[in-house]
Amino acid sequence: MKYGVPSRKKEECTACNFDYQERTVLVLETTLLKSFYAWTTTRTIYHVSSFQDFVQRHREYKKMIMLNYPPLHKELYTMDAAKFFVPSFLKAINDNTEESFRSIMTESSPGVYTFEMLQPHFCELLLSEVDNFERWVHETKFRIMRPNTMNNYGAVLDDFGLETMLDKLMEDFICPISGVFFPEVGGSTLDSHHGFVVEYGMDRDVELGFHVDDSEVTLNVCLGEQFGGGDLFFRGVRCDKHVHSGTQSEEIFDYSHVPGRAVLHRGRHRHGARATTSGQRVNLLLWCRSSVFRELKKYKKEFSSWCGECQREKKERQRIAVGATKLELFKRLQKSTS
Ligand SMILES: [Zn+2]
Repeated sequence: MKYGVPSRKKEECTACNFDYQERTVLVLETTLLKSFYAWTTTRTIYHVSSFQDFVQRHREYKKMIMLNYPPLHKELYTMDAAKFFVPSFLKAINDNTEESFRSIMTESSPGVYTFEMLQPHFCELLLSEVDNFERWVHETKFRIMRPNTMNNYGAVLDDFGLETMLDKLMEDFICPISGVFFPEVGGSTLDSHHGFVVEYGMDRDVELGFHVDDSEVTLNVCLGEQFGGGDLFFRGVRCDKHVHSGTQSEEIFDYSHVPGRAVLHRGRHRHGARATTSGQRVNLLLWCRSSVFRELKKYKKEFSSWCGECQREKKERQRIAVGATKLELFKRLQKSTS
């Protein structure tokens, strides 16, 4: 079982290669504090020892890109809902009711929702922007940070200017839905994200092992292009304690990607990607996090209502308790009648 936690050698880390001399005194900003909190489990990628170190290095890394990378499609960098989303998705969000969300969503397996989301033209533009960014990275020999250790290809969209647009996507379009379907994991209080694309194919990453995401809620949208294979497979939601436990038959679910169609699930829903056997597949991932949920989770030691195994154990304990009570009553009844 792999977690979405990267670990890289120091010499491979772009942040480590920045000029340390140029550091200035840090000012703690609320947004960065939130971001740091969200990144604490993934900070090994930056080889940082403190919050200050992290903030400074990541800021310099992003600044380097922002100053030098020329965007190809500027229209992607500002949220334009009518151009980005399909009408059915937009209408459901505007109506903003559980009924309207359910009308566009398919819950093929408990906790896995799929729905039509992105316009083909938006997918094309984003694919082309990522392509352009990677070409720029190659030409300028800029050493980029990959989204996580599990992927050798792909790019972090937040790092080259798409952070504001993706923030809007999370706040205005994902949070209303996750507040209804995933309230128990902080679905209504999402406040930071990690947005990236992953690329699969013969000359890219081929598959992705079984893992859980460092997110409360994950949005996974296929952007294209032509491909064979690459199914997503799900194996039940688990808390930290039960992440390696077995799978119940009703938790097994496989999903075939369709360009433009989104999958929304809890980050703790164990999943993986099967091999992309032909062509190339690119997916947009948005790991949405809630600092409120993470803070509350620290104080919660026992049962997690959202964990399949915790629920199973609870039911088993109840079954045993009910059995014992019945047996006790039966014994008393026998005594009184004899
Ligand atoms: Zn559990």
